[in-house]
Amino acid sequence: MAIPRRAYVETYGCQMNISDGELMEGILEAEGYEIAVTPEEADVILVNTCAIRDHAERRVLGRVAQLKGLKDERPGLILGVTGCMAQRMGEDLAARAPYVDLVMGPDGYRDLPGALERIGAGAAAPGGPPSGSSKRRTQLAVLDLDVGENYEGLEQRRSSDVSAWVPIQRGCNHRCTYCIVPYVRGDEKNRKPTEILSEIATIAGRGITEVTLLGQTVNSYRHDDWTFADLLRATARVPGIRRVRYTSPHPNDVTDDLIEVMATEPEVCEHLHLPVQAGNDRTLKRMVRRYTVESFLDVVDRVRAAIPDIALTTDVIVAFPGETEAEFEDTLALMREVRFDDAFTYRYSPRDGTPATRMPDAWFVDDDVAQARLERLISVSRSIQAQINEAEVGRAEEILVEKPGRDAGFVLGRTRRAKAVVVPGADTDIGGYVDVRLTRTTGATFVGERVLAGAGAGVPVGSASD
Ligand code: SF4
Repeated sequence: MAIPRRAYVETYGCQMNISDGELMEGILEAEGYEIAVTPEEADVILVNTCAIRDHAERRVLGRVAQLKGLKDERPGLILGVTGCMAQRMGEDLAARAPYVDLVMGPDGYRDLPGALERIGAGAAAPGGPPSGSSKRRTQLAVLDLDVGENYEGLEQRRSSDVSAWVPIQRGCNHRCTYCIVPYVRGDEKNRKPTEILSEIATIAGRGITEVTLLGQTVNSYRHDDWTFADLLRATARVPGIRRVRYTSPHPNDVTDDLIEVMATEPEVCEHLHLPVQAGNDRTLKRMVRRYTVESFLDVVDRVRAAIPDIALTTDVIVAFPGETEAEFEDTLALMREVRFDDAFTYRYSPRDGTPATRMPDAWFVDDDVAQARLERLISVSRSIQAQINEAEVGRAEEILVEKPGRDAGFVLGRTRRAKAVVVPGADTDIGGYVDVRLTRTTGATFVGERVLAGAGAGVPVGSASD
């Protein structure tokens, strides 16, 4: 019996990329590959990359150069770079790292086994390389953007038995001026609701009770008559599903229908990640975010009116070209006004090919100013987060246990509002729901104790009698 080939997929970047990593693993497994746990034991290594920030790309280039060492030891090893950075750099990457055998963008994964086979055979496909692809010595570049590629009908390998990512959409129709995504993932492509719901039923059938619907602007999803609100409601009603999340929505597509589904379907969690990016209208206009501070705040008000206990998180970019000190102060003011439960904060990172890189030189913010703004933003965001979390100490919550804690005898879980809680527990708790009381916070995460079921999850303990 032939020894199965082993593939190792190492993923960087966002949830969509993690999900793509699982998709590649599923595609390879279906072709008889075993999934390796370390690169050392693999015959094929795929580094699945992110192009959002220059720093992420440099890190990946360093990692790929490191993996070349394994290739030197085992010349038969195939080393591939996939994902957004592969798409962005394309043949430049192949030229810069000649030891890389495969450069494949996010729309090429269906052809992954065939591409590996062609590389293994040391020849291009009969009749030449696929359209839009080129062969350079033993290198293959598969870089076509495919308007129809939704990966329907392909099984994703699930790396977690607790929670599942379900991509419902690929690509993006927006053109935020700082963002590389539309150029490496193409326009928005939405999957059929029937396929999505059947996948979720399969996930539930495996005993996974939490799903997160994924898309670049997930709530702009539309397929025939189906809106995102329809899909979210249907997902919440799949038997066996207890928690539904989604990420990342665009503020403009938070409709009243969507808010109503969030407020009325018990399985939809009280957490919304709502990227704001900046708190000044001029900055938002240069970013082409297509909303104003006022309209963003209106979304926040409508969501909080319907779901008062909702946890809100966000993304913010500082030092976008042209950002003045006053504009930055407006962003801090917005942070203080909304009081997000958490914020992912970034310095603007120029990405070749995006409109922001063509803005006047004088608009680019000096590194030291950018760094100082980032630190101020982080400080404001962390202090708000700590205040919010300190006020939540004492609450009773239900957590879904995700993994072992850092210390023996503890596990880590998440509340419906996506707050991380460490409680005493064992591996046997993983995948299960545990009622806990939050006993203290480190600022960002909580420590909790287990309580008997039904002690009033989501309600501050003692508040009724205080
Ligand atoms: S909405 Fe804007 S930031 Fe988000 S993926 Fe699309 S272009 Fe990028």
